Amino acid sequence: MVLLADAMLLDWKNDSNYTKGRPVLTETLLINFLFILFPVLIYLIFFENRITLYLNNTIIVLLASFPLILTMTFPIRLDLGFIYDLRYIPFIVASLFLGFKGAIPLYLVLNVYRFIIGGEGVYQSFFFSTVILLFIPLWKKKFIKLKTRNRVLWAGLFSFLTMLFYLVTLTSFFPVLNKEYWIIAANVLPIHVIGVMIIVILIEKIRANYQNRERYLQSERLNVISELSASVSHEIRNPLTAANGFLQLLMESSKIHQEEKKYLAISLQEIKRAEKIISDFLSFAKPQAENMVYSNFKKEIEYVNNIMIPYAHLHLVDLKFSFSNTLLMRFDQNQMQQCLINLYKNGIEAMKETGGILSIDVYENNGSILISITDTGIGMTTEECSLLGQPYYSTKKEGTGLGMVMIYSVIDKVGGTIKVKSEKDAGTTFLITLPV
Ligand code: ADP
Ligand code: MG
Repeated sequence: MVLLADAMLLDWKNDSNYTKGRPVLTETLLINFLFILFPVLIYLIFFENRITLYLNNTIIVLLASFPLILTMTFPIRLDLGFIYDLRYIPFIVASLFLGFKGAIPLYLVLNVYRFIIGGEGVYQSFFFSTVILLFIPLWKKKFIKLKTRNRVLWAGLFSFLTMLFYLVTLTSFFPVLNKEYWIIAANVLPIHVIGVMIIVILIEKIRANYQNRERYLQSERLNVISELSASVSHEIRNPLTAANGFLQLLMESSKIHQEEKKYLAISLQEIKRAEKIISDFLSFAKPQAENMVYSNFKKEIEYVNNIMIPYAHLHLVDLKFSFSNTLLMRFDQNQMQQCLINLYKNGIEAMKETGGILSIDVYENNGSILISITDTGIGMTTEECSLLGQPYYSTKKEGTGLGMVMIYSVIDKVGGTIKVKSEKDAGTTFLITLPV
């Protein structure tokens, strides 16, 4: 009997020669699973540090093509003579993570190779992979936004539904749903669901490890800066205070000529400026006891608004502001204000050329204070976003590249997190979450 039911199944042979010398099912299954693990391993070893995992479409597509071809070359043979393979595992996973950008090239690889292999079931395979291509990548955007655990579960569900559909199409080749059909179903369904889930768990784990390491590096960097700036700033501040005091005494002296007092005034002014820079630099340092407040951010945000409104208007930027937070938390007021000023400044500077709106929302959610600062400016690419917070990274002519470092440092010290959402030429949102 010849069955031409291939979505995955290639042919059906009942002759006993065929089954002789054939590797045992579990063996081929394990080998096939190895094929599917292969790209994950290669990615982990060679490509993990290439900034963001979701970026390297070409690399992922190339890597996913290997298991696609290998699984089709070495399919799994059930005792009944039914053949199937695991090609849809990499196909589904890549479609979910990359959307059409990943699905279309893999779809081509899959079908071209399937046509080369030829034999029965080419058209069924074509039909079935087309259905996947049209259906799965649509969910990419929602899928990417899910929480890690849900991503694993949903990937499992997608693979379950896809395989269910496969089994339904397979029924048309079985006049009656006999035992053989159910054996096939019992093999195909769990293997695909578990396979997809394992791969997604591994991908998520790689991402989490990468992010943890980045976070750790960042906080190490901040630690170094924070310790240095505390000691250096204090050391410089004391002599400055002394110099300041004596210069002021000189100013009051009657023996000094009016003309010479001009120089003294300039010196005093410059000392004031140096002190200001140092106190800014102290924002990197440990929170200062004398600056600690217990507040719901109302006062701080108002203070910053007042300071920044003239600067915003100068650049044709309007400030939009909403406040609905009742939670209180403890923080260093100077540092927090400086941090907000830096965020406002970056937002306004991003809209320098065009003008726009800077929206600031302060609200509470789940026992945390949230501050979101959104501009409608130039925005950043994912790559640029990942560079934020590195000391001296700046794209501005007169930028210092220290603003973001300071922002991260202050938020880090109160145990908060910052999320950046940005789109090139559309705008940027910084969302600060502060646990109370
Ligand atoms: P600086 O403002 O001195 O350049 P920052 O550390 O404040 O340094 O910012 C670093 C870089 O991050 C900026 O040069 C800019 O390229 C980018 N950036 C920060 N905030 C925004 C934003 N809201 N919109 C677009 N780019 C931003
Ligand atoms: Mg800045």
